[in-house]
Amino acid sequence: MAVKDKGPQRTCIVCRQTRDKKQLIRYVVAPNGTIQVDYRQRLPGRGAYTCFAAQCLLDAVNKKYFQRCFKKNEFSTDSAELIEQLKTAVGQKILNLIGMSRKSGQLISGSNMVIDALRKKSSIAAVIIAEDISLEIGKKIAALAERDHISTAHLYNKQMIGQMLGKEERSVIAVQAGLLADSLLNELHRYGQLVREI
Ligand SMILES: [Zn+2]
Repeated sequence: MAVKDKGPQRTCIVCRQTRDKKQLIRYVVAPNGTIQVDYRQRLPGRGAYTCFAAQCLLDAVNKKYFQRCFKKNEFSTDSAELIEQLKTAVGQKILNLIGMSRKSGQLISGSNMVIDALRKKSSIAAVIIAEDISLEIGKKIAALAERDHISTAHLYNKQMIGQMLGKEERSVIAVQAGLLADSLLNELHRYGQLVREI
């Protein structure tokens, strides 16, 4: 099954593992000679790929894999810069997915609504809790989500979440199960990896 769904494969320049290219990070050399993360994998020119493992990303810069791959002796880009680029790209993707979930009616926001949906077990797949949510409500939501093995992420603050939705402050959002939620979970996982590992 699913063989026909298999997308183009690429190989991580560091660990040499081959995967679906959507599971890898693409990099290109920008016109000014620096290395640039091409998160959407659309920029023209020769691309190099690494996995999301922190070690591969760091080694690509520090052990000169990029130099070999792009056949260039020196790059001014350091690993901290690439990680920042990557965090920005993943963060932007998360924002886009939240926006798409809202437009397609798969997003619930506000603590009362989310608590209610979690209690009714209305097929929630992901919950994003503002970092400045009140302790008591945050705990309550986390416990309800945990009961049903729903992934939670602590990200942004109430004002930022509100802004994303064109509302005033919002302390929590929940996304209903579906393809958008799957993509969102994937990106949240990547973001978590970036923040934790590096
Ligand atoms: Zn790798």
